[in-house]
Amino acid sequence: MASMIELIRRKRDGEALSAEEVAWVIAEYTAEAVPDYQMAAMLMAIFHRGLDPAELAAWTEAMLHSGDVLDLSAIAAPKVDKHSTGGIGDKASIPLAPMVAACGIAVPMMSGRGLGHTGGTLDKLESIPGFRTALDPAEFADIVDRVGLVLAGQSETLVPADRRMYALRDATGTVPSIPLIASSIMSKKLAEDLDGLVLDVKVGSGAFMKDETTARRLADTMIGIGQAHDTPVTAVLSDMDQPLGREVGNANEIIESIAVLRGEGPPDLVELVYALGAEMLALGGVTQDRAEAHTRLETAVTSGAALDVFASVIEAQGGDPSVVESDSALPTAPHRTAVTAAESGFVIRCDALDIGLAAVSLGAGRERKEDSIDPGVGITVLKKLGDGVEKSERLAVVAYRDDGRLEAARRRLDTAWQVGPEPVILPPLVLDTVA
Ligand code: URA
Repeated sequence: MASMIELIRRKRDGEALSAEEVAWVIAEYTAEAVPDYQMAAMLMAIFHRGLDPAELAAWTEAMLHSGDVLDLSAIAAPKVDKHSTGGIGDKASIPLAPMVAACGIAVPMMSGRGLGHTGGTLDKLESIPGFRTALDPAEFADIVDRVGLVLAGQSETLVPADRRMYALRDATGTVPSIPLIASSIMSKKLAEDLDGLVLDVKVGSGAFMKDETTARRLADTMIGIGQAHDTPVTAVLSDMDQPLGREVGNANEIIESIAVLRGEGPPDLVELVYALGAEMLALGGVTQDRAEAHTRLETAVTSGAALDVFASVIEAQGGDPSVVESDSALPTAPHRTAVTAAESGFVIRCDALDIGLAAVSLGAGRERKEDSIDPGVGITVLKKLGDGVEKSERLAVVAYRDDGRLEAARRRLDTAWQVGPEPVILPPLVLDTVA
């Protein structure tokens, strides 16, 4: 086998690597025999040069088999999961998983941490006191069997290559690459032994894919990987020009997720959760059409079944289930300040990227690989696209801990909103569904 430096040079110069070479790179990196700095160079070479279909298949396969692959064949219920390509305020997985589990789907969910300016399901869940996301395969399978869902992360045993590489990409500007995103997501999902997968492919300023054409390419790439593994994949393309829902952060996003499970969530988040849920129920063969799916999901919420499932999974993963009744056990930042409108009119811009970067500055995300998350800080978005606003009215409330961090966040928040004299035509939230 050539050396890592030789493989980096070849990839940098646009040559394709063989399947054996790709397998070697991933295996050596997972075993920590290839250091982060060399892998970072390789990732940057891939970012610029891409991976051809054979390399991508080999890369995904090597990531998938970098650790254990689950065998959930003992679970009788259809196993369907959902994954997002990453957004701001995107907590959809958290209410969605218990809602579909309450409808008879098993959801073995393996999620990621915050990446770049986007939030991560694992970071949000870990703001629940005691909640453990590092599970071994036996515990993972046991919880999904007993509770109907599990919400875990990549670990030393499950797709460890992605766990290391994900953090490295985050710190080296190598996230927005179609082959790297597709292999990261699909290696985790294929390790879950699924009957179907729903992808939420985000498009817009706060997404890694800024336009619909690239988002469709990413969706098609992941659908293709699913087909090669006999796993049906449906991709929902959804807007990420403004944050989803009203809360951006970690603990505050758990509170908003619980609101959805109580039937009290903000309309855009609820719309997306129901749209994704309908696709999951269809893939699981539980419902025939969207109207039936909507009714099933609504009943799961109004009956309290979905909230009960969420409390059960929190308990099963060591967390404090009292958070579904009261948010007093959740962390919160000590200070609050407002972002206000400079003029009266209508919100014509509420920029997801600026708000996401502001949240990272506050400490809700990581600027470096080793940074820890501050679960209590965050942003509550009070005015979104199309909303009328008076001069000096609050656009958002910022929960913060540290004045220096607030100042950095403010620089972003100052440009996040734009107010104009006329209301804008609101773009649809769900842009398309492809399978
Ligand atoms: N989500 C993932 O799991 N991986 C990525 O690369 C991007 C979003």
